[in-house]
Amino acid sequence: MLTNLQARDVETLVHPYTNLATLRDTGPLILERGQGVWVHDVDGKPYLEGMAGLWCTALGYGNEELVEAAATQMRKLPFTHIFGGKSHDPAIELAEKLKEMAPVPISKVFFTSSGSEANDTQMKLVWYMNNALGRPNKKKIISRVRAYHGVTIASASLTGLAGNHNDFDLPIAGVRHTTSPHHYRLALPGESEEAFATRLAADLEALILAEGPDTVAAFIAEPVMGAGGVIVPPRTYYPKIKAVLEKYDVFFIADEVITGFGRLGTAFGSEAMEMKPDSISVAKALSSAYQPIGAVMIPEAMYQALLEESRKLGSFGHGFTYSGHPVAAAVALKTLEIYDRENVFERVRAKIPQFDARRAALEDHPLVGEARGKGLVAGIELVADKKTKAQFDPKLGMAAKCVAFAQEEGLIVRSVFGDAVTICPPLVISPAEIDELFDRLTRALDRTLDWAV
Ligand code: PLP
Repeated sequence: MLTNLQARDVETLVHPYTNLATLRDTGPLILERGQGVWVHDVDGKPYLEGMAGLWCTALGYGNEELVEAAATQMRKLPFTHIFGGKSHDPAIELAEKLKEMAPVPISKVFFTSSGSEANDTQMKLVWYMNNALGRPNKKKIISRVRAYHGVTIASASLTGLAGNHNDFDLPIAGVRHTTSPHHYRLALPGESEEAFATRLAADLEALILAEGPDTVAAFIAEPVMGAGGVIVPPRTYYPKIKAVLEKYDVFFIADEVITGFGRLGTAFGSEAMEMKPDSISVAKALSSAYQPIGAVMIPEAMYQALLEESRKLGSFGHGFTYSGHPVAAAVALKTLEIYDRENVFERVRAKIPQFDARRAALEDHPLVGEARGKGLVAGIELVADKKTKAQFDPKLGMAAKCVAFAQEEGLIVRSVFGDAVTICPPLVISPAEIDELFDRLTRALDRTLDWAV
């Protein structure tokens, strides 16, 4: 029986990423408030937010400094755009700060409101740049199977998950997907991580050659794949991939929408994964999700091409009403100030050994095939047979069942493609809360096992 609020919900809302048919029976979990790593539903039940919302509320809930930063900016100048030569202080300062923090040389910053918009923009900038450079055929973008880059037409095309393509008539032309760097599932018998990485670089090279290097413009990758199931590539993967990209003059885009700002224990995931991208997309933890804001961090060579092309055409014809929104920019600036002042990334590094140990221990559970992760993000893959790695019938919805049990246990986690349960708590989670998270998840796994047999 749905509550009044749930009934009104299903009569009025189309929910993203939801089975709209089953939701009509179950109704949504309606949350009302949050503090620290905890959120409370409308009945006052607390849940440990083990996913930081959607991999984003890095500083947790109830951060008054962020609230104040938004209120102050709203009072002063709630909106002005940065089109056609206008600007404002928060956007300028935030761009400066991002340039200063960047793990690779960055010349300019373009603001968006989301990760999808950032990756959409990346694709357009690469096309625009290659037109400016007189190589109009060099336009294809290579992504990877199981990648997640967003849901707009271009970014959903880059996403390498069938669920984002089926019946949406995607991907669009000119997007290709190479092998996912998932050793557990895709390694050949006896193949080391190193050999697997070498093979994946060879796969990429073969794809570039098959397409024709003159037609391949860019390669995009998340340092650690998130929504595809938290896939951590082998240690030597990115250096090997980078060598192939350099050989064929293919632009390298890092999608740091999840890994940006401390998630892997470093400011950017590129650093932790020895990735040397040309440009970077960020969003989510940029403002700890208190405001919708994303950015594309652009290298000098690309900026020079944009400059030339806009001189030729009379304008750089791209921009969102909310590009560099002053309230979002002010909140992002405050977020970055807090990361710095409170040594948030250093503190994440201190928590990783405990998180790693609790994560790894889950591999002893009869349902868990692989408990993978890096930093404070993890993917727990459920299997029917640990020895053969046989998967459950997807119709059983094992990971979704585990997530439902976790919710009953007062823990919010998510299930993603391939029966993986994902964990990505706010960076400010305490050691005691890390234990609480894994204790609750273990109880949920036990209940899933009881349910399955
Ligand atoms: N890129 C990555 C790596 C993401 O995880 C996401 C969202 O989860 C996106 C892009 C898309 O971001 P948004 O949902 O803000 O459009």
